[in-house]
Amino acid sequence: MSLDKIYEKVVDRNPGEKEFHQAVEEVLDTIRPVMEKHPEFVEAGVVERLVEPERQIIFRVPWVDDQGVVHVNRGFRVQFNSAIGPYKGGIRFHPSVYIGIIKFLGFEQIFKNALTGLAMGGGKGGSDFDPKGKSDDEVMRFCQSFMNELFRHIHPDTDVPAGDIGVGGREIGYMYGQYRKLKNRFEGVFTGKSPEWGGSLVRPEATGFGLVYFTHEMLKKENMDLNGKEVLVSGSGNVAQNALKKCNELGAKVVTLSDSTGVIYDPDGISGNKVDYIEELKNIRRGRIKEYAEEYDVEYVDGGNPWAFDGDIALPSATQNEILEDDAHKLVDNGVFAVGEGANMPSTPEAIKIFQQNDILFAPAKAANAGGVSVSGLEMAQNSQRMSWSFEEVDEKLKRIMKNIYRTSYETSKKYGDEGNLVLGANVAGFMKVAKAMLDQGVI
Ligand code: NDP
Repeated sequence: MSLDKIYEKVVDRNPGEKEFHQAVEEVLDTIRPVMEKHPEFVEAGVVERLVEPERQIIFRVPWVDDQGVVHVNRGFRVQFNSAIGPYKGGIRFHPSVYIGIIKFLGFEQIFKNALTGLAMGGGKGGSDFDPKGKSDDEVMRFCQSFMNELFRHIHPDTDVPAGDIGVGGREIGYMYGQYRKLKNRFEGVFTGKSPEWGGSLVRPEATGFGLVYFTHEMLKKENMDLNGKEVLVSGSGNVAQNALKKCNELGAKVVTLSDSTGVIYDPDGISGNKVDYIEELKNIRRGRIKEYAEEYDVEYVDGGNPWAFDGDIALPSATQNEILEDDAHKLVDNGVFAVGEGANMPSTPEAIKIFQQNDILFAPAKAANAGGVSVSGLEMAQNSQRMSWSFEEVDEKLKRIMKNIYRTSYETSKKYGDEGNLVLGANVAGFMKVAKAMLDQGVI
């Protein structure tokens, strides 16, 4: 079947799942030259099989709030592809979650995980539960109820979840605790665990650090570095905070952070004690970014995003489709010359086109934010060995992995005739690895 027909079928069979359609369309568009070179993939129906998840689980998650009122949320786990390893991918708690979001994330995860060079398949999960404004006890009861169903479907050799939006150390702790109680087994079934009980050092930092390592590699190719550059970061959660820290370490100046209510602009840079303030605000008090503007007397734009400000580099690290076509024009007009995607699919296809037409250095999410899942893979390795490695050892491995992902993506773009197009390079390199494995393993 042609790639166009496959795409039409995906849209037909998955109505209304627009984020999933978008993710599939981008990959299919970039693998056209591969399919011409490899008719055996077409004959074996590799792409038809790839776009259909191996398994999709949807379940009821009932829980009781502090007032004794019963609520019912919906839980999801999409086990997309296990040709090169156990399903691996995070869990997202956000009111916008529905099956189309989980499928887009699970689909992208297949190629991202392949790029890391580690043995991990693709999966993703989540719920439309909103942890914002909930007490710790409510979050705990929700997580326990979520695990009361999920535990049947996961195992260290089958499917190993991690965190994502709305799921950090607190939520992973509650889910892991419930898994351990239900299974009576202490095993590496989650990554992003606390280092006190089986987690890897550097896992919390890995996505943000990896994003900056990848961006550094991309700049190095052009004989540039991050030193002295002004950086626009969106979001203020796990990825944004750690991208901020690594940018500061490498001499860059981060001037924006945001959340779903607005954006702050600090022309002096968010560094030193201000970083501690952000961590306390977001991870402990769970407050709004606006409070930063009040504390440090800087500009705050209610409902705004970072893309209207001047800068050199943009690191979108909040959510999908946060850079629209107009935003991309603004970034180009305001002098941004490089974009590194920390979030998953933060730029729309129209925005990516604008970047490419204007020769902006562009690091796509599947490659640039693969640091998180890479260290998750290293956490699984440590759990299997019942060992834990030092911070320096894991950080060194992360750096090497990000360097390799950059090199693989770059070399693949060159091989397929569009040197420097890392969207093409990352998609094709990830696809080739999974497609070959599926071919080897027969039609299953
Ligand atoms: P967090 O929950 O820690 O932080 C998310 C941040 O993004 C918050 O500041 C949040 O603001 C903001 N945000 C979320 N949704 C929206 C929205 N609809 N509009 C505007 N702002 C929004 O999540 P992470 O930092 O872990 O994840 C951020 C992105 O990175 C996601 O796309 C995720 O899939 C991706 N990613 C994460 C990895 C990880 O290891 N954690 C690995 C690879 C990718 P608010 O608090 O107001 O909601």
